[in-house]
Amino acid sequence: MVTPTGSTLRLTADREVCAGAGQCVRAAPDLFDQDDDGLVVVLRADVPPEASERALTAADWCPSGAVAAHRPR
Ligand code: SF4
Repeated sequence: MVTPTGSTLRLTADREVCAGAGQCVRAAPDLFDQDDDGLVVVLRADVPPEASERALTAADWCPSGAVAAHRPR
């Protein structure tokens, strides 16, 4: 998925369904981390435009569907 230049996305990650696979951190280490239990931690919920591609890749790679990147209303 491609986002228009300058658009912003908002990230959410559902720790209830996170499986601790770490794919989100691999895709976007500037946006995600994992806690001591391996569960996702969102570092930047408001994604800067230059990180949009990485945010979308993280959502795509997450095997549990925990990560969502959407436009704020
Ligand atoms: S990729 Fe998905 S399942 Fe894996 S740590 Fe990130 S949010 Fe959790």
